[in-house]
Amino acid sequence: MDIGGTNIRAAVATGVTSFVDHVSLRTPAADGPDAVLDAVSDAVWAACPGGTPDGVAVGIPGPLDPDTGVVFAAPQLKGWTDVDAATRLAKLVGCHVVVHNDASLAGYAEWVAGAGKGARHMIFITASTGIGGGLVVNGELISGRAGTAGEIGHMPLGTDYPACAQGHAGCLEGTASGAAIARRAKEAIARGEKTVLAALDLALVDAAAVMRAAQAGDSVSCRLWHDAGRALGRAVGGLINLLSPEIVVIGGGLINAGELLFDPLRAGVGEIAFEVPTKQCRIVQAGLGTDAGLVGAVAWAVHSFGEG
Ligand SMILES: [Zn+2]
Repeated sequence: MDIGGTNIRAAVATGVTSFVDHVSLRTPAADGPDAVLDAVSDAVWAACPGGTPDGVAVGIPGPLDPDTGVVFAAPQLKGWTDVDAATRLAKLVGCHVVVHNDASLAGYAEWVAGAGKGARHMIFITASTGIGGGLVVNGELISGRAGTAGEIGHMPLGTDYPACAQGHAGCLEGTASGAAIARRAKEAIARGEKTVLAALDLALVDAAAVMRAAQAGDSVSCRLWHDAGRALGRAVGGLINLLSPEIVVIGGGLINAGELLFDPLRAGVGEIAFEVPTKQCRIVQAGLGTDAGLVGAVAWAVHSFGEG
């Protein structure tokens, strides 16, 4: 199961990363934990019409304890504070349930079946509206005490960088996320900077519009993507110094910008990372696309409950 702010997706694992009977339901995100857990159990029954599954693994967008199944918070889901999700869901579906952070599971998927396959040390970053990540160290997915390990989006860049939506001064998400690119473009328009974006309806100024303008040579848009890529690269460079990974896998919608993102990203890495670990680390695009969250939940289910 992959619970998102918009959709709940379910699939039946048929192998380590293979699945069938993909079901998608709307997430009743505003209706509280009971409504969401009821919808999750509906999705389980829809995906498994033949009977009770051996176990259910659920990816959830928030900090949680994978050992106890308690979700500490889920910003996209109303009322989710200290929700005993695994135990409550287990009662609804009649089998064992495990939960894990959704970005960690997407990283796990890239490690088991995607661009990071076979690596012993991997950093996964998903860069879209927000920025998340997952860490594999010594062949193990790292959760940390609160299940938030790999929360790469909120690494500090420096106090001269903008704050993120959570109000952290100089935080990576304040510069390098899709939301930040859009916000900074609107700020540039408001300042009267010369950009083709000023001709657009303000509601249409998103990271994709800024990407298209940059590809057409708009200098403000190029600068915003350069800032985003460089900031992401400096964060990656710091992580290379800290963890010396074999591979850094970067996914999420922002990678659609290609070299517009990756050129300044690689330069940013070079500004701060030591040469020796950088030479032994590849920086690549993710291989599983938007399915990584669901593939990760499938792989985590097989990891937790066996192949049935
Ligand atoms: Zn932040």
